[in-house]
Amino acid sequence: RQNKLAVTALQLSNQTQNDDFVLEDVPHLTNFLPDLPSYPNPLQKSQAYSIVKRNFVSPDDVVAQNVVIQKENPRGVHFRRAGPREKVFFKPEEVRACVVTCGGLCPGINTVIREIVCGLNNMYGVQDILGIEGGYKGFYSKNTKILNPKVVNDIHKRGGTFLCTSRGGHDTHKIVDNIEDRGINQVYIIGGDGTQRGAALIYEEVKKRGLQVAVAGIPKTIDNDIAVIDKSFGFDTAVEEAQRAINAAHVEVESVENGVGIVKLMGRYSGFIAMYATLASRDVDCCLIPESPFYLEGRGGLFEFIEQRLKENGHLVIVVAEGTGQEYVAAEVHAADKKDASGNKLLLDVGPWLSDKIKDHFTMSRKMPVNMKYIDPTYMIRAIPSNASDNIYCTLLAHGAVHGAMAGYTGFTVGPVNSKQAYIPIARVTERQNTVKLTDRMWARLLASTNQPSFIGSDQERVDKEILKI
Ligand code: ATP
Ligand code: MG
Repeated sequence: RQNKLAVTALQLSNQTQNDDFVLEDVPHLTNFLPDLPSYPNPLQKSQAYSIVKRNFVSPDDVVAQNVVIQKENPRGVHFRRAGPREKVFFKPEEVRACVVTCGGLCPGINTVIREIVCGLNNMYGVQDILGIEGGYKGFYSKNTKILNPKVVNDIHKRGGTFLCTSRGGHDTHKIVDNIEDRGINQVYIIGGDGTQRGAALIYEEVKKRGLQVAVAGIPKTIDNDIAVIDKSFGFDTAVEEAQRAINAAHVEVESVENGVGIVKLMGRYSGFIAMYATLASRDVDCCLIPESPFYLEGRGGLFEFIEQRLKENGHLVIVVAEGTGQEYVAAEVHAADKKDASGNKLLLDVGPWLSDKIKDHFTMSRKMPVNMKYIDPTYMIRAIPSNASDNIYCTLLAHGAVHGAMAGYTGFTVGPVNSKQAYIPIARVTERQNTVKLTDRMWARLLASTNQPSFIGSDQERVDKEILKI
């Protein structure tokens, strides 16, 4: 059922609002042709759902972005609540769904794939599900894999992605040609910010061609830097696995004289993993993240702090997020401005740079040799399967996406807002990145826990600006 739609003059309004209420709505396939049919949800006959108190989510239910409403700012942004609807847009036997994974690895991708397949099949009786292999370019350069509950049964126990992934190769026209040729009418796209931008283009092209195809994004980023949603899947697992690296560094430095451990963790533009791993561990003396400026020399600088901790405890552990201090490294390394296949800037490696700086300073200037232990657990963390809480979370995401697409919503990303699953317009999650706010309580908690310098003196202007924003 992939009839062409005569796109009507009905223009989808993405925002409905009055004085106090803003709804950032997601498109629905019937927005473009109001007369399209709808069918009773097959879940009405499902034993599992018949015992749920209110088995279907009203299409009018919304989720509030802010739970704390301030008197001076009572207007709240809202999103459509995710979940099964009483009426669905697709007849299950007419669904041909596909799943694709793009970008870097992250624990939990296989669980999301598994739960999309099992959710479609078990809840809605959908039989025709294709796996697109090797990311976006797989749409036009590779064969597809047939997916069913049996094929995906065990994949959540493995790390990586069962469908393989890639960077680059997003050709919107070729992808949508392929969607049309194969008669696909539900597209589930798992990936990070770049992938979601690509998903938005696919949605626009599908709309332009008047195809009855639901495009659903499932946000993936180990860095937890996706805006609007509470947190991204794989993040908890990453923080947990990072503990092992921090623990190893701590054991190493405790066992030698003047031991300095450096653990480099993921976080290109945001330091959430480093911040949470530090808060969870208690073995970390100093956490450096891209959002927080730092400096090495002089009063209140990192060298002074290291010396003080070495004198007090004989060792210390530093956690550094990968995107930290890029300006310092760039000033000394003079590397060419390189990009990956997706056009992302390749970062300079702050870990070895910081290790060398500390070693040189203490050996040469201070005549106080240090025992440097540098650990980069990035690939070990990315490659593991998701932990229990991420597995549950991935299931909620996958089911949310399936319910949304079956109900006829499109151009949406699914994710928890204030711990309720919601449908969020794709553009809303790609327009900006979520970063650690230095003026938030969580960063203050970290500073209180490590007792590290805040380095605020180095960039007072920036902090003042942040304070003005809140
Ligand atoms: P992560 O950064 O978490 O690893 P990502 O999804 O951001 O994940 P990218 O490599 O940037 O990873 O992008 C994944 C896919 O999305 C690639 O196939 C790339 O071609 C495509 N893509 C990236 N940015 C865009 C864009 N602006 N428009 C269309 N497609 C894009
Ligand atoms: Mg990215």
